[in-house]
Amino acid sequence: MSTVPAEPSAQGQWEAWKRKELPPVERVRSDLWSVPVPIPHNPLRYTITYLSVSDSGVVVVDPGWFATETWDALVAGLAVAGASVSDVVGVVVTHIHADHHGLSGRLKQESGAWIAMHPAEREVLPVRLAETTPDSFDKDWLRSSGVPADVAGKLSFSPDAIKPFMELSLPDILLSDGDVVPHGSRTMRAVWTPGHTPGHICLYDSVRGVLLTGDHVLPRISPNIGMMVGDDDPLSSYIASLERIAAYDSAEVLPAHEYRFQGVARRTLALIKHHQERCDEISSVLRANGESTAWQITERLTWSRGWENVRGVMRRSAVAETCAHLQYMRKLGSVELIDGEVRRWRAGM
Ligand SMILES: [Zn+2]
Repeated sequence: MSTVPAEPSAQGQWEAWKRKELPPVERVRSDLWSVPVPIPHNPLRYTITYLSVSDSGVVVVDPGWFATETWDALVAGLAVAGASVSDVVGVVVTHIHADHHGLSGRLKQESGAWIAMHPAEREVLPVRLAETTPDSFDKDWLRSSGVPADVAGKLSFSPDAIKPFMELSLPDILLSDGDVVPHGSRTMRAVWTPGHTPGHICLYDSVRGVLLTGDHVLPRISPNIGMMVGDDDPLSSYIASLERIAAYDSAEVLPAHEYRFQGVARRTLALIKHHQERCDEISSVLRANGESTAWQITERLTWSRGWENVRGVMRRSAVAETCAHLQYMRKLGSVELIDGEVRRWRAGM
């Protein structure tokens, strides 16, 4: 869902975004490049990959989706920056979603580069989750959220569909909060911003005056905050992470989608307001309809494209987002949980 958009700081990138084109490869700083790489069949259209260049080689931040056309765009972007795949010495991912981490494995394979991520992010890699969570976890979650059995069947993934995600690479280097990316003059530092995922990181570079925000803060859209393994109250985590990142207001914001912009503090306020409005809407739905499951609440919320056009896996993210809001509201006392095999919710006193 969109909120008040942020002010673009690069006209060309913004114009291209408006024309629904892939923005050009740009030299953002003398040693930092932005390379938009396509995400096939996805309304986000592209991931903005960043290349940090030093005498010792190139570090790629968020290399993008595992598709040939994405790889080709990345290789072409490296060439514009005067480099090739063999120059890549490291890969940093802000989080493990496949539109960010998808190509990390191939990059490592073809260049020998290390892969770095936050330790909490490693724990939610599908290959790790398969070891640490029971097989019935997903089915149980859908049922307890009140998703009807016939719908739940359509929201589950087949082993074939899961396979490429199971192959997402494990990290070689862990970047905890405050850790420096081991590259060049070592000016890029990890800022842990859990919420969108448990181990999401932003990268702050005080010398270049930039803040790479991944999906944490985007100029127009609000990232999905859904229930997941590894964080039982992701919306609280997200809001705390927004408040935290607002302190970097002087930096130019380099997000992983859409376009770069100035004014992270203002944008975080808009995102917090968006979630507060969603909580208010959930309260109204509960007051009007009485005890409801997360699924029943989700169907009654407003969706920018209409609920009937939220289909397939998108419905899954929608319910997960409602659950995240309910968990957050429960902590504040604005909703009450009636626990059971199917969880029901009612407005708080
Ligand atoms: Zn993401």
